[in-house]
Amino acid sequence: MKLILLGPPGAGKGTQAQQLAKKRGLVQLSTGEMLRAAVKAGTEIGLKAKALMDKGELVSDDVVVGIIAERIQQPDCKSGFILDGFPRTLQQAAALDKMLEAKGERMDAVIELKVDYNRLVERIVGRYACAKCGEGYHDRFKRPKVRGVCDVCGSTEFTRRADDNAETVTTRMIAYYRETSPLIGYYFCRGNLHAVDGMAPIEEVGAAIEGIVDSLA
Ligand code: AMP
Repeated sequence: MKLILLGPPGAGKGTQAQQLAKKRGLVQLSTGEMLRAAVKAGTEIGLKAKALMDKGELVSDDVVVGIIAERIQQPDCKSGFILDGFPRTLQQAAALDKMLEAKGERMDAVIELKVDYNRLVERIVGRYACAKCGEGYHDRFKRPKVRGVCDVCGSTEFTRRADDNAETVTTRMIAYYRETSPLIGYYFCRGNLHAVDGMAPIEEVGAAIEGIVDSLA
């Protein structure tokens, strides 16, 4: 099963991809996570990407297409993957189609998380994650059960993304509207676009996505 989760920053793509990947034995492929890892490791790609990411601008198509092309060849992607944060431009979508067509494959479904744009900033600036296991939390919507302790692994260290601030969010939203939202039309025309209400509680969004996945199986 090959899926794309599509939606603006803060729509919940990462949260849903993580949960679905765990439940269905799929691999979550987040270009944002891969780029952050490259920045942390100080690789050439990371050094190039950092300034753009800090500003909330998109990294070049060549770089992210190269990362994904290499990653989906890995054996763990054979049984399926969930793309989260890729593709983000029409050029990336076309490149993805081409790399899958070369193998006689295609994406099974593109799931759009429909959101209320006015509430995204609040969602984004309040989010953080466990520094050890990556479990996601939110200042208002999802606090750890015991204050300061991760529910999943018990770690007491948490991190916030450098680009999750009110200034950068505006640039990221503009990038979404300008570059990524045309993909909704692109996939609609290809006949594999599905939509779910991304403003519903996390479990309900997850159930709606699973319903779509089940209907494809
Ligand atoms: P994300 O974690 O998906 O919100 O991505 C964080 C940042 O990484 C974005 O604001 C971009 O700077 C960069 N990025 C992630 N995925 C892509 C992509 N597919 N194309 C271009 N830039 C990307």
